[in-house]
Amino acid sequence: MSEASTFDVIIVGGGVAGLTAGLFAARHGRSTLIIVPFMVGGQLATIGAIEDFPGFPEGIAGYDLGPIVQEQAVAAGAQFKMVDATGLASIGTHWRVQSTEGAIDARAVIIASGSSARMLNVPGEERFTGQGISHCASCDGPLLKGKRIVIVGAGDSGLQEALTLTTWAQSIVILEQAPSPSAQASYLKRANENAKIRIHCELLVDAIQGGDAIEGVHARHRRTGAINRFDADAVFVYAGLAPNTRWLNGAVELDPRGYIVTDLQMHTRHAGLFAAGDVRADSASQAITAAGDGATAAMAAHRYLQTATPGEYSPP
Ligand SMILES: Cc1cc2nc3c(=O)[nH]c(=O)nc-3n(C[C@H](O)[C@H](O)[C@H](O)COP(=O)(O)OP(=O)(O)OC[C@H]3O[C@@H](n4cnc5c(N)ncnc54)[C@H](O)[C@@H]3O)c2cc1C
Repeated sequence: MSEASTFDVIIVGGGVAGLTAGLFAARHGRSTLIIVPFMVGGQLATIGAIEDFPGFPEGIAGYDLGPIVQEQAVAAGAQFKMVDATGLASIGTHWRVQSTEGAIDARAVIIASGSSARMLNVPGEERFTGQGISHCASCDGPLLKGKRIVIVGAGDSGLQEALTLTTWAQSIVILEQAPSPSAQASYLKRANENAKIRIHCELLVDAIQGGDAIEGVHARHRRTGAINRFDADAVFVYAGLAPNTRWLNGAVELDPRGYIVTDLQMHTRHAGLFAAGDVRADSASQAITAAGDGATAAMAAHRYLQTATPGEYSPP
């Protein structure tokens, strides 16, 4: 694209927040473009079983849920473009999204670029990423029949993925730096009842070690300093998330942790600019809340487009 094309609403991100925003914006008659790098679904695309999304009492695979919402958004009229957003700027009454294939303009933009797994920043991590270190149990689990797995992080994601991995793994050790796991009671109960899973708390991973392949994980006890070594053939890291906001290059106000600040209507401090899902400050980081944010942001963007006279609108 050499000339910038113009939409009512551009949504950056094709996770459940972006797809739901696209569905609602298009259903309100807004010309809507969803920008997503290569594959829709975002984090959902990596999750085997989501048990707490309302409407699916038997649970649903995240990688099935994403395409269903995409289908709804397409049926409502949302368009998709498979590119990376690389920048954002206000140009008078519009916003300009820079992408890897040129500029695209809109009167309102919803940022739904989500979050990515936080790195441990320990020796061995870079070397073994994609070669034994993973963030997706349903993708890599089938390759790990009879293997010893270490999971870093005993939050919801860590335990949920551990339970998925029990299908294939010989043993699963979960290492948590806090004094106790933070996962939901239902996951914790099932993990404690599963003979393959052991949870160790107050351990900080120091290194992932091996030769041609991963052989083990070194972890230091937070209080005593004692070093523990756990044999491992693969390591799964669920040690928190980092917001995908670097592409904004300072164009939007962020909180000290790098998340986008919004009001309850998902409006940022910038007129016509909204944020939804895991990328925004105070998100509950759940699929259902991301979807709710997306719907709220799209409806707020629609109202903004109906009423805002450039120069008169004063965002919160
Ligand atoms: C292992 C795991 C298990 C989970 N289990 C559950 C569960 O059981 N129940 C539950 O409710 N939640 C669960 N979650 C959390 C849930 O998946 C997320 O809260 C939700 O998917 C966030 O959606 P999102 O759309 O805000 O962001 P994301 O899913 O992160 O999507 C962000 C999108 O933005 C795109 N993007 C990023 N940068 C750019 C850019 N520069 N340009 C264009 N596009 C960009 C990405 O490619 C992606 O499409 C789990 C998460 C993980 C990691």
